[in-house]
Amino acid sequence: MAHFRRQVGAAVALNTAIFVIEALAGLQSNSLSLAMDAVHNLSDEMALVFLYLAFVLPHGLSRNLVRSANLFNSLGLVAVSALLVWQAAYRLLDPVPVAGIIPAAVGVCAAAANWGVARLLREPARGNAAIRLAYLHNLGDVQVSLAPVLSGVLVSVTHYPVFDPLIALAIAVWIIVSTLRETIGSRAELIAPEKMDCGHDERA
Ligand SMILES: [Zn+2]
Repeated sequence: MAHFRRQVGAAVALNTAIFVIEALAGLQSNSLSLAMDAVHNLSDEMALVFLYLAFVLPHGLSRNLVRSANLFNSLGLVAVSALLVWQAAYRLLDPVPVAGIIPAAVGVCAAAANWGVARLLREPARGNAAIRLAYLHNLGDVQVSLAPVLSGVLVSVTHYPVFDPLIALAIAVWIIVSTLRETIGSRAELIAPEKMDCGHDERA
């Protein structure tokens, strides 16, 4: 399993870079849409960290850990998204200037990095349901990270900063809806798989 552990570890590191750069650039440029994607990537980050821990820790402990981590993670994500909806509403009423080039450029990098995270998870995903979920999730995130790019381009072209909170709102609503749907709809076995092993080991 050591080779899978290394790949999941590398995915964690790359995801950390996405979160830190998006958060700093979001604050710097006044871009709520970038800040929103940073929060989303922080949440993915926690999920990946717990997935990694599940590889390292004994089965019983890691199972409970992953289960509570997932629940905590989902609730936290919904709470922070709701907070940002509130922020975005303020910005819609009272727009502040946004440096559009920054969310555009950083969003492109984040999309590329999310693709990189998915690539790292692709091989371990073949034999493990929890990693497969993370892999599919990160493939989807390549598109989500393009939302700040759209925001940056629209703000730069139209000079209306209001596009940024509008897109932040759209991302927040998407996150709240998809997180609630996943939390309510997913089976316990997928959230906290009994065995965190490689597939080929199980079949052997
Ligand atoms: Zn995500």
